[in-house]
Amino acid sequence: MIVANIGATDFTGILMYQKAYREHDMLAKFITKQFGKKMFIVRGAKRQNFKNRAAVLPFTYGTFNGVIKEEGLSYFNSGNTVSHYQQISDDIEINAYATYVMSLIDFAFPDSVQIPEWFEKLSLGLALMNDGFDASIITNIFEIQLLEAFGVAPNWVDCVVCHRQDLPFDYSESMGGLLCSNHWDQDEYRLHLDQRTIYYLRLFSVVDFRKLNKIDVNADTKSKLRQVIDQIYTRSVGYVPKSKKFLDQLSNFKL
Ligand SMILES: [Zn+2]
Repeated sequence: MIVANIGATDFTGILMYQKAYREHDMLAKFITKQFGKKMFIVRGAKRQNFKNRAAVLPFTYGTFNGVIKEEGLSYFNSGNTVSHYQQISDDIEINAYATYVMSLIDFAFPDSVQIPEWFEKLSLGLALMNDGFDASIITNIFEIQLLEAFGVAPNWVDCVVCHRQDLPFDYSESMGGLLCSNHWDQDEYRLHLDQRTIYYLRLFSVVDFRKLNKIDVNADTKSKLRQVIDQIYTRSVGYVPKSKKFLDQLSNFKL
């Protein structure tokens, strides 16, 4: 077997999570702009005199240096220009939303596959959360846009049967998208969503974080969005990360 051994190289990344490894080391998972998601071994990270502590704190982003392996563990050397999403780090609720979004992205794509567009989306989405933009809405946008990566890819554009766009819509899980009111009889289990909820689901599917200034969603619609997205994830995606359960507990606690 020939193992490509790339030398130390700079990369742009966002730390997704880290965990203790062996006696003195740490594993740190980064989503990188250049190499996709990579798991790094950070040697000596648990030692008192470890010099790169700031580079592997939760919610760190910036440029780093390491030895990238095509397979298996890569080696982390140092942080070059390191910043933190400080508000995300300080606020337990925003923290929970950001953690959940990163666990979805981690699950949606295999490691070592280049996903520069998702690196950019995550970078912009976290920056918006960090700037005080409603983290629940940013999270909903990620959830809707990630559906395609999970193989669900609903049609949010027009009626899946007749392609009309001018009649009230509902969502059909079995038909994989919107149904206009002429075709509601095609799915007796359609979700009976109100038009406002439908409007935001369609909007979220095409939102570009670079152009996002403001979305005001009332509390009632937010909770309906939460409900329908939960339903789609539970039934169609079939995966709910642990971090989502923590987020739900926090939300229940707030009520
Ligand atoms: Zn139709």
